[in-house]
Amino acid sequence: MPRVAVFCGAAAPTDAVYVSAAAAIGTHLAEHGVHIVYGGSRLGMMGALADSALAAGAPVTGILPRALNTPRITHSGLTTLKTVPDTAARQDCFMELADAFLALPGGLGTLDELTAVWASAAHQDRAKPIGLLNTDRFYDPLLTFLNGAAAAGYLAHHPHLRLNTLAVVDDDPAGLVASLLTRLTPRRPVRRALASTRTGT
Ligand code: AMP
Repeated sequence: MPRVAVFCGAAAPTDAVYVSAAAAIGTHLAEHGVHIVYGGSRLGMMGALADSALAAGAPVTGILPRALNTPRITHSGLTTLKTVPDTAARQDCFMELADAFLALPGGLGTLDELTAVWASAAHQDRAKPIGLLNTDRFYDPLLTFLNGAAAAGYLAHHPHLRLNTLAVVDDDPAGLVASLLTRLTPRRPVRRALASTRTGT
């Protein structure tokens, strides 16, 4: 079963279209038989993603830094909850567990998670695919930046990091999930991070 890590805003967005988009991503990933890995919250887009995926029968793993593991934040219905010391450890888990990454609209935390996996691909022989959900053209400014960086030559020594090589961008949740999954490469056999995963909350 492929695993996809999903990054998205933790705060309640002002426009409900983002919450609906997160729920649609959860449903489509579940329909494709994907195990979802995400930040473990029950709130906002994160909660909508997990709720829809669980309702459609997908396993969902939440990874939470200890300080965020509170009744107010933690989703109590997850298949697996893993607590880690801090956000750096959580990022390591995302990298280790996931076969692909999806970034939905969000703030600095989402941008941090997205750019971390993207930049780390420079040092991997077979980079894991990345998808951007471009709801309401949310990611257009970032795409402009990345195209500008490529045009200025900053990606010249890492040609596989270029936008169209590593990432798929779509404003349609169904289309994005389908495109991302066609880019998956076979999974590595050893999964250190999952071996230490504890079940339950
Ligand atoms: P942001 O985009 O700044 O709202 O941060 C959201 C991303 O960072 C998510 O993908 C989570 O993995 C992580 N994150 C940040 N804040 C929280 C939180 N309160 N609860 C759970 N995860 C969070």
